[in-house]
Amino acid sequence: MSSDTCEIVVIGAGLSGLIATSTLGRLGIDVICCDEKKPANGCLDDNRVTAFLGSSIDLLKEAVDWQSIERQARPLKNMRIVDSSADHDSQSFCADMIGEKEFGFALPNHILIKALKKQISSFPNTKIQSGAKMVRQLPRLSEIIVTLEGDETHHIRADLAVAADGGNSALRSLAGIATRGFGFHQKSLGFNVAHSEPHGDETVEIYAAGGPFTLVPIENTGESFASSCVWMTNNREAERLMALSDEDFVAEANRRSLGQRGTLRLTGVRKMWPAFAQLADRFIAERVVLIGEAAHMVPPIGAQGMNMTMADIAELRRLVSAGRDHLAAPRVLSRYHQSRYGAVLTRMTAIMALNWMSAIDNGAIHHFRQKGLSFFANTPFLRNPLMRMGMWQFEMTHLN
Ligand SMILES: Cc1cc2nc3c(=O)[nH]c(=O)nc-3n(C[C@H](O)[C@H](O)[C@H](O)COP(=O)(O)OP(=O)(O)OC[C@H]3O[C@@H](n4cnc5c(N)ncnc54)[C@H](O)[C@@H]3O)c2cc1C
Repeated sequence: MSSDTCEIVVIGAGLSGLIATSTLGRLGIDVICCDEKKPANGCLDDNRVTAFLGSSIDLLKEAVDWQSIERQARPLKNMRIVDSSADHDSQSFCADMIGEKEFGFALPNHILIKALKKQISSFPNTKIQSGAKMVRQLPRLSEIIVTLEGDETHHIRADLAVAADGGNSALRSLAGIATRGFGFHQKSLGFNVAHSEPHGDETVEIYAAGGPFTLVPIENTGESFASSCVWMTNNREAERLMALSDEDFVAEANRRSLGQRGTLRLTGVRKMWPAFAQLADRFIAERVVLIGEAAHMVPPIGAQGMNMTMADIAELRRLVSAGRDHLAAPRVLSRYHQSRYGAVLTRMTAIMALNWMSAIDNGAIHHFRQKGLSFFANTPFLRNPLMRMGMWQFEMTHLN
């Protein structure tokens, strides 16, 4: 049995946990981040690409050595929504409509995770402990003790524990926080493709019954143009698609993409994720703060999930930098809950409405979606504020 002390222990070394660890580490806070996985089979095999939008990029630039990953970050300059139920009617939204060069950047998760780990190991006050599963938490008057099981039993005593351990968060349930789930029996398939037509730094979302099919531009692979694809559909169809051979699968993907990027060719493995929404009843408990999917999960529509997490981390950073001596004071924690819960609920409601309108197979809804989108796209005083909202602008307090 061994033990350690730190100011903040972060449970989970997925994107949320690593970005939080690095951000807090840069503030000079002593942080230990633990994950039940060992690095060898850990999240480096994540084939997803994350679109970081608006202020998320500013926060990311603090968490990671941006110059070292900039070459693999693809700017997202335009977004086009295609309605496959309406003669392929499409509406375009360009960053320059709201005076921006780009909405954000798309980055492959495995590149970002590697760079975050490197950054974290460069701070003298942060460390990652892998192969360590959090199994118990004991909040006390002056500290919280978390117990990790791995090669040996390990205790960490900290001022505050951050739950970044994903949708099935153990820390959240041990802290007695319940969740509510909402779903449309959908799954999302994630895979990367090369294609014959250029993407022009444009993301395309193609709506059809079952859910959207989204192509996000990534760095070209060799001679070909490349995109990362998220294909949302109902459970049964998703299972059927996953069971197909690569050749049959790519034929289906080509049909579903409506030739928007020319001919698609699969360039790696396919992975499948459940796609549903889940919200924790509270984002805090005694000496515990929830961030990322431990607090909120949304279907991968409009690149909102991780961007919501970036706003969690920005808020955590703001509170920590304002009062390092009172990290877990109840008034500090309730400020976190108050500032994040309502904002997340509003955004989740919008994402779920969008998902419902895209997933449901109903002619009247399709008609309403098409008319609504066209009205919205052609009405700048409505369109521009909503584009800004989708793009994520949150308050970034500056480090001194
Ligand atoms: C296909 C797809 C595409 C997406 N694209 C985008 C996008 O473009 N933009 C965007 O904003 N969002 C996107 N998202 C959402 C985004 O990927 C997620 O919000 C993000 O990956 C969640 O990260 P997390 O760190 O909160 O959770 P996870 O990635 O689940 O990480 C949790 C970590 O905790 C560890 N853990 C669990 N339990 C324990 C324990 N008891 N002890 C120790 N460790 C533990 C796990 O091993 C894991 O490493 C997408 C999601 C999907 C499915």
